[in-house]
Amino acid sequence: MSQERRYSFEFFPTKTEAGHEKLMTVARQLAGYNPDFFSCTYGAGGSTRDRTLHTVLQLDGEVKVPTAPHLSCVGDSKAELGELLNLYQNAGIKRIVALRGDLPSGMGMASGELRYANELVEFIRSETGEHFHIEVAAYPEVHPQARSFEDDLLNFVRKVQAGADSAITQYFFNADCYFYFVERVRKLGVKIPIVPGIMPITNYSKLARFSDACGAELPRWIRKQLEAYGDDLESIQAFGEQVVTEMCEKLLAGGAPGLHFYTLNQAEPSLAIWNNLKLPR
Ligand code: FAD
Repeated sequence: MSQERRYSFEFFPTKTEAGHEKLMTVARQLAGYNPDFFSCTYGAGGSTRDRTLHTVLQLDGEVKVPTAPHLSCVGDSKAELGELLNLYQNAGIKRIVALRGDLPSGMGMASGELRYANELVEFIRSETGEHFHIEVAAYPEVHPQARSFEDDLLNFVRKVQAGADSAITQYFFNADCYFYFVERVRKLGVKIPIVPGIMPITNYSKLARFSDACGAELPRWIRKQLEAYGDDLESIQAFGEQVVTEMCEKLLAGGAPGLHFYTLNQAEPSLAIWNNLKLPR
């Protein structure tokens, strides 16, 4: 695997045994591409606590790709977070993705002892020293709850100052926003790698809904083209593959230090882009 660049695949823990088996099959297929690591999401408030733990340990121990659990702080107590950190540390997990998280609606906002991701990064460092490589989230198109672009940049810097080693971005479909974000945070003294998060396009309505919720912009020209394909999934996927591949080419040519694929537990859409880019195996 390339020394300078890193490639990773993200999964979510499934609710059913059948879903879990399918996820393991996908993970084994992706493991053949020799990624630097896998990651597995965590439901804020601990809703997937056991499933995330189980999935991470299996991916790491059986599929044998180093796996980073995501851990979010809203809705979890320090004791609960500390216990999970302990379990992961004892299992030999070396990387963690530290997040604030979004509580499901109805669960309230202020629960939990840690309010923001920078506080979680500090907590992880205070509990486990330098054991974990800590990833944090970055938002080239601005986090939806940020007071302003400037404020969001400063809040990103707080996470780095608290001890983050690298960052993964929210997905986007416009390479310029990534380059601008990186340029701005470099001027604020940030030196850590900032890896673009890549969302393959496979389904228009789901993508549109998800993008609205997380503040990722689906540019009008992409939206219009996807809308025009209607139920023609094959055309949606072919167009999506081309658009995302071209964006990744620009990102890598412009110096992005790797790519992190939001797989949504599917192998083919990410692999199509991987193969188009002729990434190393
Ligand atoms: P923060 O960095 O804490 O920022 C949240 C908001 O608060 C921002 O608007 C920021 O500007 C502001 N802010 C930050 N610090 C401060 C401060 N000290 N004082 C005042 N304001 C502040 N969600 C999950 O629930 N589970 C997951 O597994 C998960 N994985 C993700 C992986 C990636 C790579 C990304 C990009 C996102 C992921 N998310 C996940 C979503 C994430 O939890 C949400 O975007 C959440 O709203 C913000 O999390 P954060 O860690 O970026 O928060």
